[in-house]
Amino acid sequence: EKGDERANQIPRYVRVNANVWTMGEAIAHFEAAGFSLTSLPDAFPEPKQFAIDLHIPDLLLFHPSASLTSSPLLTEGKIILQDKASCFPAYILISPVSADQKSARADVGKVVDATAAPGNKTSALSALMGNQGEITAFERDPKRFKTLQIMLKKARCKNVTPLNKDFLSVDPEDDVFEGVTHILLDPSCSGSGIVNRMDYLLEAGEEEPGVDEARLLKLGSFQLKMIKHAMKIKSANRITYSTCSIHKEEDEYVVRDALASEEAAQAGFVLGPRTKVLPSWSRRGLSEGTGLSEDDANCLIRCTPGEDRTNGFFVACFVKATALEQKQVGKRARD
Ligand code: SAM
Repeated sequence: EKGDERANQIPRYVRVNANVWTMGEAIAHFEAAGFSLTSLPDAFPEPKQFAIDLHIPDLLLFHPSASLTSSPLLTEGKIILQDKASCFPAYILISPVSADQKSARADVGKVVDATAAPGNKTSALSALMGNQGEITAFERDPKRFKTLQIMLKKARCKNVTPLNKDFLSVDPEDDVFEGVTHILLDPSCSGSGIVNRMDYLLEAGEEEPGVDEARLLKLGSFQLKMIKHAMKIKSANRITYSTCSIHKEEDEYVVRDALASEEAAQAGFVLGPRTKVLPSWSRRGLSEGTGLSEDDANCLIRCTPGEDRTNGFFVACFVKATALEQKQVGKRARD
């Protein structure tokens, strides 16, 4: 089956949880368990090998056959099985300056994860921030909220306050958003990019997989509403939007409409430049037929299932433009 073939092109990714132990300790552990660290991170690891990822710090890759799903490291919160592409949003939100920067940015105030369960990206944010600072994690579904709480406890996140609330129901001027500078927005999507392993399906959200046009448009309008709500939070100056969908209706079209929205114009949100959004990742957003300029499409990240050794994924990063950038954006629009 086609899906399975593509799944075989994806290594088993293991995120080392820096809230619990270090990358050095993890490497020593896997070496003692009989795996050898290959110095060719671009090569697909053989069954008894592992490698350090090229783009994401604290991410290891193993052969897809490496069976880690019953490893005690999982129950101890030392490792999290998280697809590489799913690590992009937190990394782009918190440490976007260069690929080798390991510590959190100095300009991070308070962070909101607007759609958090099961908590893979929340716990990644927590670790990237050195388990310090403040993250507020919203999840509206009560059952998924429980899963989130368990995950945060297991991953020993001390800097996260989970809230069982609908992000859209909270006024952007509510005190809970005071001082929030960074927002991670990973709303429910069709999950059409996920080609392997059930453990990633939970990340797609509560939606049933399925991709007819009417449903995609409905999801797109919900996703746009979420972005516009985030843009209304006055202190926010950086928002990542992500989906595990490969459909333009949930990806480029949503970004196009968000950029053209009243909320973006009022707050001055534009797309963060390619140089600050995982510049070494070569597959970028689509411009053709999407209404986005090539420049804007270049600011976006896409992952094609299998071909990029990840599941299908999409990331956009909105930033509040400085006065100068706003002038240039205005000029570009007029030209
Ligand atoms: N970021 C998560 C991760 O990496 O583990 C996956 C998030 S999943 C794609 C989307 C989640 O958002 C679902 O759990 C869904 O219940 C929740 N959700 C959807 N709409 C919401 C809203 N308006 N407010 C809060 N949570 C919402």
